[in-house]
Amino acid sequence: LRRNPGEREFHQAVREVLETLGPVLERHPELAQRRIIELLCEPERQIIFRVPWQDDQGRTRINRAFRVEFNSALGPYKGGLRFHPSVYLGIVKFLGFEQVFKNALTGLPIGGGKGGSDFDPKGRSDAEIMRFCQSLMTELYRHLGEHTDVPAGDIGVGQREIGYLFGQYKRITNRYESGVFTGKGLDWGGSRARREATGYGVVFFTQEMLQAHQDHLEGKTCIVSGSGNVAIYAMEKAMALGARVVACSDSDGVVVDWNGIDLERVKRIKELERGRIRVYAEGKSGVNYLEGGNIWEVPCHVALPCATQNELTADDARALVNNGCLLVAEGANMPCTPEAVRLLRDAGVLFGPAKAVNAGGVATSALEMQQNASRDSWSFAYTESRLREIMAQIHHQSFETAERFGLPGDYVAGANIAGFLRVGRAMASLGLI
Ligand code: NDP
Repeated sequence: LRRNPGEREFHQAVREVLETLGPVLERHPELAQRRIIELLCEPERQIIFRVPWQDDQGRTRINRAFRVEFNSALGPYKGGLRFHPSVYLGIVKFLGFEQVFKNALTGLPIGGGKGGSDFDPKGRSDAEIMRFCQSLMTELYRHLGEHTDVPAGDIGVGQREIGYLFGQYKRITNRYESGVFTGKGLDWGGSRARREATGYGVVFFTQEMLQAHQDHLEGKTCIVSGSGNVAIYAMEKAMALGARVVACSDSDGVVVDWNGIDLERVKRIKELERGRIRVYAEGKSGVNYLEGGNIWEVPCHVALPCATQNELTADDARALVNNGCLLVAEGANMPCTPEAVRLLRDAGVLFGPAKAVNAGGVATSALEMQQNASRDSWSFAYTESRLREIMAQIHHQSFETAERFGLPGDYVAGANIAGFLRVGRAMASLGLI
């Protein structure tokens, strides 16, 4: 705490991991001796820089940007960039720390990092977004490389932003280095199924959890917070597997549609028009729009928080439990507060932690890197089948590790321990670096 003052979300993420690692250090004293945990909590490198840009009125604007290169024991730093006014060092560090464990869990050769800026893309013109991305990359490019650091998208950074960032990287370096970014467009080095991967992966993991407990997704009522990249494709796959999705949201409000969410309508509003979710209810009968409403009060069997950190509190967890919720799986990073997690688990709700549940996005990013390295392009079906296998493997590892350490059913401990063992052993092998 003294070493990283004010970084609230980072403290929260580290505490949650440390609380589960006791049993590992008892069995692996060699990792304790080398102080691997302390090393893991200290990023290898942190870059903070200013991003000056001009708005459409010709005024100079100044934002702050970050890249935290957390750990490269398993491969190049890998993790997204977030554009949101709430971004500061504590958010980027929490995301980077989580990323190290998540990437280790995928079994793929990727280290962990994260970045972003306090730039607010909402209401900005396309030209402003482009100028901002170009200015940011004019500094960031020198820290990147397909063998060094490979960013992707996150909140506020989708394919449009990746395009402008990658374009500026290409221009400055004079290299068409496809592997330096993931989440690219299909025509310029992207992977099929990357856009869908995080959301689909969330639902594959949910399905694995239910199957491991002699249950299934078919016929379950499901709610999904957010209506961005992760939320939309989690809804799509949940529906495809027979669940009934009845609610989604954005930071303004919640839509509840008991006939089942019309996903094409959500995609049109969010992906094409870049509009607000309240538009969903306009001219559509049988839909409730709750401005400032709380999605967690909508009765459901399965709840998938897919918006942002700490969006599901202890009161929300109580509401879910009282309404008979069976399973909560974290699509967003750290969406449940520690009290909420405790409450859900004490009440017997199956709980899937973000590190495991939403790892499908970064796993498919690693598959995009594989395709770029071999100058290949795989089919949607093949890429999705790889994603499905990876999610089943992550579930198996988390489930089995929890059992092996005497904590059956504890996916939080299972995922933390399995991720820690892979990255910790690699760090020990590489020596003090
Ligand atoms: P998007 O920007 O596409 O969507 C984010 C959604 O969450 C929007 O509906 C947004 O609503 C809502 N939201 C964002 N911030 C807040 C807030 N402070 N309060 C309430 N709602 C908010 O982002 P993604 O879907 O890509 O990311 C969502 C989560 O998933 C994040 O936690 C991200 O780190 C995580 N994640 C994403 C991956 C990916 O591949 N994209 C991979 C792994 C994790 P509004 O428009 O009103 O802001």
